[in-house]
Amino acid sequence: MKLHVLIDDVQLWDGTGSPAQPKMSVEVRDGRIHWVGPASQWQGSRATVRVVDGRARTLIPGLMDCHVHYSSPGGPDWIARFTDPLPEISMRAVELAETSLRSGVTTARDVGAPNEVSIRLAHAAQAGEARAPNIRAAGTWIAHRGTYVSFARHFGETDELRGAIRAEIEAGADLIKVALSGWNEGARPEGSPDIPFDEKLLAVAVEETHKGGFKIACHANDPASCRIAAYAGVDSLEHGMFLEAGDLEAMAKNKTFLVPTMSVWDAMLYYAHAVDWPEARKKRAEDLRQGSRAAVSAAIGAGVKIALGTDAGGGAARHGRIAREAELMVECGMEPRSALIAATSSAAQLIGESERGTIEEGKIADLVLLDANPLENIGALRLIAAVFQSGRRVS
Ligand SMILES: [Zn+2]
Repeated sequence: MKLHVLIDDVQLWDGTGSPAQPKMSVEVRDGRIHWVGPASQWQGSRATVRVVDGRARTLIPGLMDCHVHYSSPGGPDWIARFTDPLPEISMRAVELAETSLRSGVTTARDVGAPNEVSIRLAHAAQAGEARAPNIRAAGTWIAHRGTYVSFARHFGETDELRGAIRAEIEAGADLIKVALSGWNEGARPEGSPDIPFDEKLLAVAVEETHKGGFKIACHANDPASCRIAAYAGVDSLEHGMFLEAGDLEAMAKNKTFLVPTMSVWDAMLYYAHAVDWPEARKKRAEDLRQGSRAAVSAAIGAGVKIALGTDAGGGAARHGRIAREAELMVECGMEPRSALIAATSSAAQLIGESERGTIEEGKIADLVLLDANPLENIGALRLIAAVFQSGRRVS
């Protein structure tokens, strides 16, 4: 029997920018959206279709989290969890991806994992072996030697950088993730520049990645890195807590997306009190909060494209809490509608998912049914009635 579903008499927000429409129906056939229209105009037979009750509910496109790490669970010791034994990481990644899917995330970008775990997970999900979102995986991080985490792919010179990018692509990465950051303590070689991954090296990374037809995401969470990344023509700037007016102008001009990952400091502030972190860590979380809120508010004003990402696993934020990130966006001045666009059609544009992100005839039927209206209260994203992935109900 072919998959045939009717989501009946629902308020529809289709993600295209149109306002929500009441009393609509959406018919799904064989994994795709077959028909969208007023409930009263549907012509088929109820006897041969699985009917899902949409009354007093809102249907939105499947959510997209543009920044996750399924190899770590997040929490107060998230970095240590990345170096757990590989079998532990692998099993956990499968479980966390399912948690994410159940929260309405039907597509995710996994932007860094040790041992290419995320690439394997993406393939397993695609093959139907894991109940997981449609995953676009970056493989591991690319960072300058002596910086960032030990499980990144490190380079020294330009040739090595190009080689690292090609190696990720050969390993099956869907995109490239570079980490701009300062030298680790005591690791700075004599006579080296203050910022190891400078403008010139980032330009090489952008060129090499785009040459292969791939997108490049750039981790930047200190003032110098934010400045360099904003002007470099990367596809997305991740975190961006210290972006200033000129940087944002450059991003708008370069059509660089900002993925603010505000859940990072939100969760850090929780753990700072819950696990009684030392003062220095509390202060860092506070600084990140202040920087991030200012940057996101200014980015909205500057017309920078924004896509939603939680950094679940890659910071203290845990998986399955995409609603919190959307709430923080609204707190920073976004309309609920804009936060939803950041989590659906804008995210689809960043990830390169032309067949997902909106509810239109012919598109892949990734859908989320909610028991309240997120356009009135964004917290409604927590009230999941059903999640459909390629038309199949997965939650
Ligand atoms: Zn991250």
